[in-house]
Amino acid sequence: MNTMNDIKNSGFLKFQLAQLDLAVITDGVINIESVQPMFAPNIEKDNLTSFFTNKMLQQDKIELAGNILFITNGEKNILIDTGSGVMLSPSTGKLIENLRNLGISPQEITDIVFTHAHPDHIGGVIDKEGILVFQNAQYYISETEYNFWMSEEPDFSKGTKNQFSDFEIQFARDHFKPIETKLNFYADEAELFGFLKLEHAPGHTPGHTIITISSEGEELVHIADTFQHIMLVEHPEWGNQIDSDFELGIKTRKNVLEKLSSTKKLFFGDHLPYPGLGYIQKDEKGYHYVPKAFYTV
Ligand SMILES: [Zn+2]
Repeated sequence: MNTMNDIKNSGFLKFQLAQLDLAVITDGVINIESVQPMFAPNIEKDNLTSFFTNKMLQQDKIELAGNILFITNGEKNILIDTGSGVMLSPSTGKLIENLRNLGISPQEITDIVFTHAHPDHIGGVIDKEGILVFQNAQYYISETEYNFWMSEEPDFSKGTKNQFSDFEIQFARDHFKPIETKLNFYADEAELFGFLKLEHAPGHTPGHTIITISSEGEELVHIADTFQHIMLVEHPEWGNQIDSDFELGIKTRKNVLEKLSSTKKLFFGDHLPYPGLGYIQKDEKGYHYVPKAFYTV
């Protein structure tokens, strides 16, 4: 008999945005063993404890979803980011298996747009032998982002430089190499394919980009890593040490939260609880995450 742990979900959720077919595909779950110092590094432990208790979340542990957005208009099969790949952790790197569950093979992916070049977003470009996974795809990345990771000494002076940053730098360079000839650069503000609007949202990384997907007046905002956890929705100023510029990360986060709450647009966050689709509401206490309600037959 199957135990609960053996039961696999489909690994994807399909939905529509007017003329576009979309799917959230899970790459798995990123487990972080303690909240601090990575998140809310300067906040009293008691504040964190009461936040996690109120939200019914496990104490002193962070789980981040690995949601990946797939978009097709019938001609182009697009992935926004590629997940962690198979080398980082046994709990991630599920993108290919779940993409196949959706009925799409990696060879059918035509275009991959990176929001930024952290390991959990670019790791999926190669398999464990170092072979390109998406053999027929073109890749797109912010020129600002590429130049940062390729510069002689990427500047972490406004964030936290640690061993993890050294790992990230090497990881980015190792993963740019095999896609070098297929890499296209986009400017800080740009459009792709007639339905993706790219907008510079720096702080998490220098070229971190959010993407508005639109079709016939319907819109979905992919916020990438602007806020990876609901803690940063309710307390954007708590910040996180993964941001290459701590204060700019907070400023951008607040700007995006304000825009999402005032426009009431549907958004997608790649690390929010699966499937990462929802809205931001604002009241006198601040911002709140409202997951989108789904109904199925
Ligand atoms: Zn991420």
